[in-house]
Amino acid sequence: MRKSIIAGNWKMYKTINEAIDLANGLKRELFKLNFSSVDVVLCPGYCALSEVAEVLNETDIGLGAQDVYWQDEGAFTGEVSPVMLKDAGCQYVIIGHSERRQFFGETNQTVNKKIRASLKHGLTPIVCVGENLQEREAGQTFNLIKNHLQGSFEGLGAEALLKTVIAYEPVWAIGTGKTATPDEAQEVHQYIRQLLKEMYDEETAGQIRIQYGGSVKPENIAELIGKPDVDGALVGGASLKVDSFSAIVIKASEVVK
Ligand code: PEP
Repeated sequence: MRKSIIAGNWKMYKTINEAIDLANGLKRELFKLNFSSVDVVLCPGYCALSEVAEVLNETDIGLGAQDVYWQDEGAFTGEVSPVMLKDAGCQYVIIGHSERRQFFGETNQTVNKKIRASLKHGLTPIVCVGENLQEREAGQTFNLIKNHLQGSFEGLGAEALLKTVIAYEPVWAIGTGKTATPDEAQEVHQYIRQLLKEMYDEETAGQIRIQYGGSVKPENIAELIGKPDVDGALVGGASLKVDSFSAIVIKASEVVK
């Protein structure tokens, strides 16, 4: 049985005070949640990590960053190391988000280095893969996913894979309001699990949690997560409000598979 995981990617939104308010609101709303059926993670911007960590202290809600550099320290102006993220209170880190690939030159090679560095410091990587509209329309979805997965996990063994979460995020569904249908999501999630079985083994592939991301809302979470290979969601826009994110989390916790 895989436990669902819902993560909120706050992207470049929320000042420190706004982030504290949002975290406090979620803490209040999710107070009674049955955390044995779902993991919840908040991923604020770097500046607000320590403050949100303080709000989440002694709750079951996890904290994640949105990116990381692969060196422990050094003359790398503007970068943030896994040591710093741990120090700020993070347990998770999003790696290879499509916005990083699209606007900041992220590649499979840099994703691979970031996964290694995160694992070395005990952070759980949430590794994003996904095709854009052009690739989908050209029938290249599976090839693209294969390229992202094989490149990102190159040289990493089953033990490393088991410590990560994968997020399937079709780029055409991110921030567009256009969600993959539950069947479309399931088709790719099933492909990812099959590929992991070929790259590793059946037992390992069966244990990996694969989140779906792309315009997830309270209205569509239950149907998405009801699919056999969809183990949670990476949520952008709808994670920025207490009402919508808590509704997503509560609905996800109620889905029995
Ligand atoms: C994301 O940022 O990973 C994402 C899925 O965004 P949205 O939910 O807004 O589509």
